[in-house]
Amino acid sequence: MLGDFLEDSAGGKKVVVASGANVTSKVRGAVESALPKKPVWVEVAAADIENVDRVIAAASGSGCIVGVGGGKSVDVGKLAAFKLRLPFFSVPTSASHDGISSPFASLKGLDRPYSVMAKPPVGILADIEIIASAPRRLLASGCGDLVSKLTAVKDWELAHRVTGEYYGSYSASLALMSANAVLDRSRALGTFGRGSVREIVEALISTGVAAGIAGSSRPCSGSEHLFSHYLDLLSPEAGLHGEKCGMGTIMMAKLHGIDWRKVRTALKNVGAPVEASQIGVGDSMVIESLMKASSIRPDRYTILSRRKLTRKSAALLAKSTGVI
Ligand SMILES: [Zn+2]
Repeated sequence: MLGDFLEDSAGGKKVVVASGANVTSKVRGAVESALPKKPVWVEVAAADIENVDRVIAAASGSGCIVGVGGGKSVDVGKLAAFKLRLPFFSVPTSASHDGISSPFASLKGLDRPYSVMAKPPVGILADIEIIASAPRRLLASGCGDLVSKLTAVKDWELAHRVTGEYYGSYSASLALMSANAVLDRSRALGTFGRGSVREIVEALISTGVAAGIAGSSRPCSGSEHLFSHYLDLLSPEAGLHGEKCGMGTIMMAKLHGIDWRKVRTALKNVGAPVEASQIGVGDSMVIESLMKASSIRPDRYTILSRRKLTRKSAALLAKSTGVI
């Protein structure tokens, strides 16, 4: 199947596969047997510019780039393909965030701590069996990234009202549909049966498409993502992206005056963390992130731009929602 997928796009030229070490050892045989010619493998060690440059160097004269793995390889492959103007294929082996389909790449070593515009994949091959066999923590994190669309869309609506920024109701609805898949069916999804895994993957793909339609990350990323990005700066190794965004969503939902308890319950039902201590983040980091998150991206108007939390109000928000 992968061969059918890639053959036309590669136009007879070589295929470059960006993949992490663990994934490479698992899928190398399957990928090579699916392709008419042996691809060039580039082992991605980290989601940073150095690894993007390594993929670019290996991709000279190639027809397409494939990112196989979790977040890192997909992000690195996506940005390399964007820079080289080559088609990019996403082959996720886990579903912990919406980068598997979005036009954005999240990398370290850039001049800003949030995603950059790259290009959407021309194809996504998601093997549900492989994704279901990945650690459940990754899928729970994917659910955290999904619920975050609830507050992302609220922030987008707010920005539209306050600044006149473009608001796309179609892409907003699409993103909300993905958040509601988790909010309304968290108990069933939390079993992580094949049907549940498929629904999580489809919802994640759908949010990436929503960002593509909007032409910005607005439907997928609001104040809860800014909170997560600020925590990344303070404690780069603590927690997964979707875990931090999920916790941020609980707090931002309260600021927006919507049902934050429902978000918290849904996250608990899928086994995602709802308390900062579960991912090794201290109270002071949560409070600092709430106070300073909006400074990461002043151009993005969110509820944090409007409310301008003080140390006292940030602590109150985090405590009243059970995050600290
Ligand atoms: Zn995200």
